[in-house]
This record gives sequence, structure tokens and C-alpha cells, in this order.
Amino acid sequence: MTEENSRTELGQLGEFGLIDRIASRVHLTLPSSVRGIGDDAAVIDPEGLHQLITTDMLVEGVHFDLGYVPLKHLGYKAMAVNMSDVYAMNAEPRQAVVALALSNRFPVEAVDELYEGMLLACRNYGVDLVGGDTTTSRSGLVIAVTMLGAARKEDIVYRNGARDNDLLVVSGDLGGAYMGLQVLEREKSVFQESGAQPDLDGNDYILERQLKPEPRRDIIQLLKKLEVRPTSMIDVSDGLASEALHLARASGLGVRLYDDKLPIDPATYSTARTFNLDPTTCALNGGEDYELLFTVAQSDFEKIKGNPHLSIVGHMTDAASGHVLVDKQGGVHELRAQGWDALLTR
Ligand code: ADP
Ligand code: MG
Repeated sequence: MTEENSRTELGQLGEFGLIDRIASRVHLTLPSSVRGIGDDAAVIDPEGLHQLITTDMLVEGVHFDLGYVPLKHLGYKAMAVNMSDVYAMNAEPRQAVVALALSNRFPVEAVDELYEGMLLACRNYGVDLVGGDTTTSRSGLVIAVTMLGAARKEDIVYRNGARDNDLLVVSGDLGGAYMGLQVLEREKSVFQESGAQPDLDGNDYILERQLKPEPRRDIIQLLKKLEVRPTSMIDVSDGLASEALHLARASGLGVRLYDDKLPIDPATYSTARTFNLDPTTCALNGGEDYELLFTVAQSDFEKIKGNPHLSIVGHMTDAASGHVLVDKQGGVHELRAQGWDALLTR
């Protein structure tokens, strides 16, 4: 895991020493962060806004493998996925608390690396780390991040606001994070079998999609600039198919997705082919892309048309028309959410 020459055992520092070490690196930046680390609870001033709260837990061996995920990236991603949930409500993430369970396998330096990633994500997106909890684990690492966000009441976008005929739009491209994971898994098994060093050359884009996802604050800002208010929104953590079904079901509607409209990066496409996987299936079910999927009124078409960051992948229909995928030949299939778990072989 960590190859540093200096290894400081957690026991040498103790729980309070570790918390002091973390606290010394944290600097609050927001007026809404009234009190951070160091008291029994953090204090937040909602400043007259609605508060949003979301949490995500990452468990070693279930959600990540330290065999190929650097701790700094893991910290970054733990923050990023929570921020993504807040942006998906059209809100701003503001404060985070972090609960950690650590086994004595981890030295103090490993915790430093983890926080380096978490604090980098916090700086990049203007979030204050205001508290947490630290405890021991018998085996492995567990990281639970809770993120607070804020928004004006009238700006919040829910999953259930889509209307019949609304356009279904996704940001960025899909399937890349899943293909990045496939490459990492392959190189890990090659290493285990032959001891060969990983060959990750030429896979930068998809590896970055897997290891260092960026929450799409830029898309929220773009939509504000274009004066487009989504009628419903969700972030793509489990795959486009699953998320499109969530929007449709929450809104009591049907949905029609078009295979030939799915945004797939050339690197994702060619890697899928190398692995004998269908690029469309990867885009629909790959997961972990952390793009935003949202619906807009037909009247907003001119504002988003041709935007390089946005793809219109389908539209909403009445509930009776069902949830369908139209393939490149015009064939109509029932849209199913496989989720990315179904694709994993581990
Ligand atoms: P308590 O016993 O009241 O739960 P702790 O000793 O767990 O207090 O925490 C003391 C302070 O340190 C609190 O402000 C808490 O939010 C913060 N804290 C504890 N663990 C972490 C952590 N892993 N990351 C950030 N802040 C932490
Ligand atoms: Mg505590």
C-alpha cells in the first residue's frame, strides 16, 4: 500500500493526536460555517436558504480496492460523489463531515494522503470540512462523508418534476468510468498472475474518469447562464438506464432513449471493443460517471442545441408508452436497469 520509508503507527499519535493533526490542516472559508472541528458539534448558519444533506459510505473491498486506488484519489472521490448529489439538486455543496474507521494496517501517513485528496476536492469546490468521527476497524477502511448543501427554495430541482414531452439531456460522456475500472482490474490480475508491472499507457482519460471523477458544478453554472431550469434532475452514479428510469418513475411518466444519441468518448468505445463489450451497454449500465441527467421543456431546445457539453438522449412520454430504448435500426426494447453491479465479475 503506502511505500513511504517513514511509517508512523496510529497508536503513536492516538485518536486525539490524529484529530489535532487533521484539524491543523483545515481552514474554514465560508461565512455559513460558524464552528468547525473542535467542539461537540459543528454549527452552520443556513443564511435563510434551504439546507440539503446527503451521505455516502465507501467500504474497502466493496467500493474500492487499495490495490490500485491511491488514497489521495480515494479521498477526492469520496468528496466528489457527495458533491455530485448536491449539484444534482441544483444546489451548492458547502460543508462536509467525515467519519472514518481505520484498522492498524494504516499508518498516520495514509490518513494524511486520504485527507490531502479530500481537502483538495473541498478547495476546488468551495466546501468546508467541519467535523467528523474517528474510530477503529478490525479490518479495512470505511469512509462515510456527509455533505451539506444550500439553495434557494425555488431553485431546488427534484426527480419528480419531469413532464410529458420534456427533453432528456445528459452532460459529458458515458461509460468511461466503467471502462477505466475494467483496465485497472485487468492489470491487477495480470500483476497477480505474472508479476508484470501494470501497463496503463494510453488509458489516461478512462482511468481519470474512474479514479478522479469531477462533480459537474460547471453544468449547473452553464444551465444558469443559458437560463435553462431543469424540470427534474439526477446524477449518473449507477448508469444512464437506471437513472432515466428513476426520473420517469418519480415523475409518473414513460421515457424513450435513443441508442444513437448516447455520448461515448472514442477512448471508451475502443476499450469496450478490446474487452469484447458493447459500448452502448457500458454507457447505459456502466455507472460511476457522475454526469448530470435532467429534463428540460421542449421550449428550451434552442438554448441547449449543439452545446458540446450536453447531449439530448431522448424524451419523456406518457406512462402508458413505457420505458424504452430505440436501437440504431429503430428496434424498440424495454429499458432495464442492470446497474453496474450486474456487469462486475468480482
Ligand atoms: P466526540 O467524542 O464528541 O464525538 P470527537 O473526539 O469524536 O468528539 O471529535 C472531536 C472533534 O473532532 C469534533 O469536532 C469532530 O467533528 C472532529 N473530528 C473527529 N474525527 C474527525 C475526522 N476524522 N475528520 C474531521 N474531523 C473530525
Ligand atoms: Mg466522535
